Amino acid sequence: PFDVLVIGGGPAGAAAAIYTARKGIRTGIAAERFGGQVLDTMAIENFISVPHTEGPKLAAHLEQHVREYEVDLMNLQKAAKLVPAKVRGGLHEVVLENGASLKSRTVILATGARWRQMNVPGEEQYKNKGVAYCPHCDGPLFKGKRVAVIGGGNSGVEAAIDLAGIVAHVTLIEYDSELRADAVLQRKLATLPNVRIVTSALTTQVHGDGEKVTGLSYKDRNSDAHHDVDLEGIFVQIGLVPNTEWLKGAVGLTPRGEIEVDHRGETSQPGIFGAGDVTTVPYKQIVVAMGEGSKAGLAAFDYMIRTVPA
Ligand code: FAD
Repeated sequence: PFDVLVIGGGPAGAAAAIYTARKGIRTGIAAERFGGQVLDTMAIENFISVPHTEGPKLAAHLEQHVREYEVDLMNLQKAAKLVPAKVRGGLHEVVLENGASLKSRTVILATGARWRQMNVPGEEQYKNKGVAYCPHCDGPLFKGKRVAVIGGGNSGVEAAIDLAGIVAHVTLIEYDSELRADAVLQRKLATLPNVRIVTSALTTQVHGDGEKVTGLSYKDRNSDAHHDVDLEGIFVQIGLVPNTEWLKGAVGLTPRGEIEVDHRGETSQPGIFGAGDVTTVPYKQIVVAMGEGSKAGLAAFDYMIRTVPA
């Protein structure tokens, strides 16, 4: 069996594995796609101490760093089930989609999250070419330009407030007849001169010139009229979905599906830890995920040295 089995090979999982391997304990990583969301990212300008890098390059560096240590790296392996140990100190089991079973004294869950997409024509084609999902990451790229934010929940309204300070103009598009964000955020939004709010609107298409975004179309759900907006950027903020469908019943999850962790990254099950975008820890960012992964790795080691094997 492993001492530490990490599920997920994004920044959180890679950091966790490096920290535990450096303790000389037997570490494995099973990842559906090593690199995680970083693989889908182009410019990264907030990875502190590296002023500019690109997703695929950072993912390659993550793998190179992990491979400096004796880590059993199982790529293209999707976990399908987690069976926690019956007693403290017992072995946890992870069953992979291919039927294989892995046993480990500790498990670190780092399966990340995925942004919910609009699923309209043009969205996929112009991803990273104007269609963006993370205002903290890509906001500054649209300095002085016109953008839309899709979604009037807390994350959409927060994004609109954030972006209004950077870009020339923000159009906030909400499907419902009213915004769903907290009142305090809505009040703040209402004070901003360069924001237009459109409610009861269904985004129907992303337009571009073949290279980058040039606008979008939406349908007014009351009148069925179609409208076009010229702009350079579209921030989709209709939900971040944690990859925890396979964990229901195994560890404590919030109603939104995030893994509940304490300040050391431990879940509701002793010896099972969580790190990165998949957990309740706020601010889904690479440096945050790496920090949380390191913490979970150290916490798993701490558990190992304090727990008698059952
Ligand atoms: P992820 O990167 O999501 O990795 C999850 C890992 O788990 C993957 O290896 C995945 O294949 C694996 N996995 C999932 N389910 C299973 C399963 N059942 N079994 C096995 N493996 C599984 N952040 C920044 O700080 N700066 C940026 O500029 C930036 N730009 C971004 C741009 C885009 C387009 C996107 C989508 C995100 C961006 N982010 C950025 C956010 C950043 O990528 C994430 O915060 C970070 O990758 C989270 O790391 P993670 O390890 O928690 O999860």
